[in-house]
Amino acid sequence: LVEAIATQMGAALIQAEAYANLEELNQQLEALDRTRSNLIAITGHELRTPLSTIQVCLESLASEPDMPLELQQVMLSTALSDSERMRKLVQDFLTLSNLESGRVEWHPESLTLQECVDLALSRLRTRSAADKPPKIKTQISQNLPLVRADGDWLVEVLAKLIDNACKFTPQKGEISIKATRNGNQMVEVTVADTGRGIEPNRLEIVFDRFYQEEGALRRTTGGTGLGLAICRQIVNGWGGEIWAESTGKDQGSQFHFTIPVVENSQEKSRGQVVTE
Ligand code: ADP
Repeated sequence: LVEAIATQMGAALIQAEAYANLEELNQQLEALDRTRSNLIAITGHELRTPLSTIQVCLESLASEPDMPLELQQVMLSTALSDSERMRKLVQDFLTLSNLESGRVEWHPESLTLQECVDLALSRLRTRSAADKPPKIKTQISQNLPLVRADGDWLVEVLAKLIDNACKFTPQKGEISIKATRNGNQMVEVTVADTGRGIEPNRLEIVFDRFYQEEGALRRTTGGTGLGLAICRQIVNGWGGEIWAESTGKDQGSQFHFTIPVVENSQEKSRGQVVTE
C-alpha cells in the first residue's frame, strides 16, 4: 500500500510540475504575442507616415493641373524621398526579422580586419559621394590575428557604424576606426567620433528597434532606426558583443564590438595608420 501511495504521489508531483511548466510556457507565449503586436503597430505607424505624405503629394499633383512647375518639383521629390524611405524600412525590417528568426545563412571565413575596413570605407565613399564625410583615421594594431566571421555581415556592421558616425559628426570633426586585441579569444573594433554624443541613459536603448533621438518625423539624416538593432543581431550571431560609450551631449560617441579570432593566426598585412 505504501508503495502504491508513493507511486501515486510521484505521478501527482510530475503532473503538478507539468502544469507549472505549462503555466510558464503560457506566460512566455503571451509575452511573445504582446511583442509581436507592438512590433506590428510600430511598423505600421512607421510605414503609414511616409505613405500618407506620398498620397498627399500625388493627390495634389492630380487635382491641380495648373500647379506652378516649381511646386510640382517639390511634390515629386518629396514623394520620391518618402518612397525611398519606405523601401529602406521594409528592407531593414526584413533583414532584422530574418536575423532574429535564424533564417540567415552564415558563411564564416577567416578574415583580415584591414581588408574589411577598406571594403566598408569604399562602400561608404560611393554612397556619400555628394556630402563629404569628416576626416576618417584608421588604426589597426600590428600583428592582429585573423578573425572568424561572415565577411559580408562584418562589412555591413562596419559600414553602418561608420555611416552613423558620419551622420552625427560635423564635417570638421573626426572619426577613428581602431582594432585591438581583447584577451586571447577576441578582437575589439571601435568606431569613435567627435560628434553630438549620446546621453548616458540612452546608451542601451539606441540598440532598440526604431529608436531615433529626434524621432523619425523631425530627423534630417535619413535612416530607419533599425541599423543598430541589426548590428547587434549580427554581432551576437558570431558570438561577439556590441556596446556604446559616450560621456554625454556633444562629447562624441564610441561604438565597440568584438569578433572571435582564428586560433594560431597572425594578420598578414602589417598594422598601419591611414588618414583620409
Ligand atoms: P538610424 O537608421 O536612425 O541611424 P540606428 O539604429 O543606426 O538608426 O541608430 C539609432 C539612433 O542612435 C540614431 O537615430 C541616433 O539617435 C543614435 N546614434 C547612433 N549612432 C550615433 C552616433 N555615432 N552618435 C550619436 N548618436 C547616434
